Amino acid sequence: MSAREQELASRLDRVRERIAAAESAAGRPAGDVGLVVVTKFFPASDVRLLAALGVREVGENRHQEAQAKAEECADLDIAWHFIGGLQTNKAAAVARYADVVESVDRPELLARLDRGAAERGRPLDVLLQVSLDAPDATHRSGAAPEVLAQLAEQVTTYDGLRLRGLMAVAPLGADPAEAFARLATIRAGFLHRHPDATRLSAGMSGDLEQAIRHGATHVRVGSAVLGSRPAVK
Ligand SMILES: *Cc1c(COP(=O)(O)O)cnc(C)c1O
Repeated sequence: MSAREQELASRLDRVRERIAAAESAAGRPAGDVGLVVVTKFFPASDVRLLAALGVREVGENRHQEAQAKAEECADLDIAWHFIGGLQTNKAAAVARYADVVESVDRPELLARLDRGAAERGRPLDVLLQVSLDAPDATHRSGAAPEVLAQLAEQVTTYDGLRLRGLMAVAPLGADPAEAFARLATIRAGFLHRHPDATRLSAGMSGDLEQAIRHGATHVRVGSAVLGSRPAVK
């Protein structure tokens, strides 16, 4: 085993233990929560090592980087999640390599995602990203909770898109437990209309326990597995 492989193996073990402890604390069955390892800023060689360690889902947030890595790792049995802000003119291209797009936040993306999925010849799983930011926040990431129902209805009109659930990020500097409690309420209303869209992608390296307590079915963990990244602008 290389030093990097050893490092990834031990960090991954630690994250898997944290997830198991949080499942148990929440009274949820072992293995209930899926792990998406966020590999942004790290090379395709790390994706390869992670695949050998049993990771089956990875997340990326920038189109060009994601596309290049997905190509380099085309031989691996791994699903690619796109989790970043999505430019309208890149949406079709993302749908050609991504298996799941988690950051769908506006109707303008839908026709383009559908076209990319058709070009690849298979339906695309999508999650709607819901904003947990204060209504007056200068930068909101995700759809406002008020427009979620309408966006979900629009997704269901496309044959190439499969509505799988919701995604959210806890606002910086806020209490993640409070944010994820609000998310759980939003999700309950959403599930009422879309009972099969059961995924809830929430929780990162610093707050995965709180997310699992509030019903996350998938956590997106980067630095706790790969180490710290260069500062993100
Ligand atoms: C980078 C990123 C993560 C992972 O963050 P860590 O704190 O490194 O675990 C999760 N979700 C999204 C949307 C991200 O951009």
